[in-house]
Amino acid sequence: MNDRSPLQSLADGNWFKLICGASFQDVALIRNLTLAYSLAGADCIDVAADKAVITAALEGMVVAGRQPWLMVSVNDGEDPHFRKAHFNARLCPPHCPRPCEKICPALAIDEKGVIEDRCYGCGRCIPICPLNLIEAEPRRASIQEILPWIETGALKAVEIHTQIGHEEDFLRLWKILAPSAENLGLLAISCQDGPGLMGYLKFLLETIQFLPCPLIWQTDGRPMSGDIGKGTTHPAIKMAQKVLSRDLPGFVQLAGGTNAHTVRKLKEMGLLKRENERGIAGVAYGSYARSLLMPILQQLPPDDPFLENHPQHLRASVKLASELVHQIKNLDI
Ligand code: SF4
Ligand code: SF4
Repeated sequence: MNDRSPLQSLADGNWFKLICGASFQDVALIRNLTLAYSLAGADCIDVAADKAVITAALEGMVVAGRQPWLMVSVNDGEDPHFRKAHFNARLCPPHCPRPCEKICPALAIDEKGVIEDRCYGCGRCIPICPLNLIEAEPRRASIQEILPWIETGALKAVEIHTQIGHEEDFLRLWKILAPSAENLGLLAISCQDGPGLMGYLKFLLETIQFLPCPLIWQTDGRPMSGDIGKGTTHPAIKMAQKVLSRDLPGFVQLAGGTNAHTVRKLKEMGLLKRENERGIAGVAYGSYARSLLMPILQQLPPDDPFLENHPQHLRASVKLASELVHQIKNLDI
């Protein structure tokens, strides 16, 4: 197994991050995903800013006997990653063919409505309801909740999700986080593309100047879509090229639409970072990485959902996870 430090992976251009989901709170699944991807060689596990979720991820790492960096995601304002769908199931007609349930990649909809912990806010169910019953409720991650975890060193990294035009919101959030930044191993800033992107990133750089730890720019191409198909990977690559062309300080890492085609595409385009050169330092995988293991993890019995208690399922999960991790690590399975 490749077990160099996460920072070395960034420097070498082979950083792999698993995104469990900024709103995803299914602790049993998070524990198992963390275990499988930690054993597969992930550098970082990114989770929701929630005590139960952080605890589950840390437990997964303890079982793995390996400690990728734990990152939590927070938002400075409204953001698609921080929302939950909901609807009143009593209003659903009995003859409805339930397209919402069929389209949900997280199996978060049943006859009672949305299973809140499982919903990660992808939004796919919302337009598909013929009666427009489904709505999204925005969430705000609690930055105060995570500060003690940063102080103890359990949390190595924080990711701030921001949007072009959120200057005041970002400043407000940064004022709270900045005093703890000296205890961080890494800060990531996740933003989507749009008019005024580079001016906004420059504003962010000025705001966080004298940052005492390394910085990642996460180019969030097409959020929460990597499991949909091959082409979803392109917007993140395009945005990363734009950020790289301006030579901003910090590492550049893809997310949002990344999947099994991403690394091959980056290699074809010669965009992956090599030692001491500019280039894409790594890739973060969310919905694709989770969907990959779902068929196995769903088979675990509810009365014993710990992956390590089911060696055959553990082996199969780690094998699949390794195939994805090793794409960027350039290792043979
Ligand atoms: S489709 Fe997406 S937004 Fe709707 S319930 Fe499932 S995870 Fe939540
Ligand atoms: S598609 Fe709409 S009406 Fe049908 S089950 Fe889902 S929420 Fe209810």
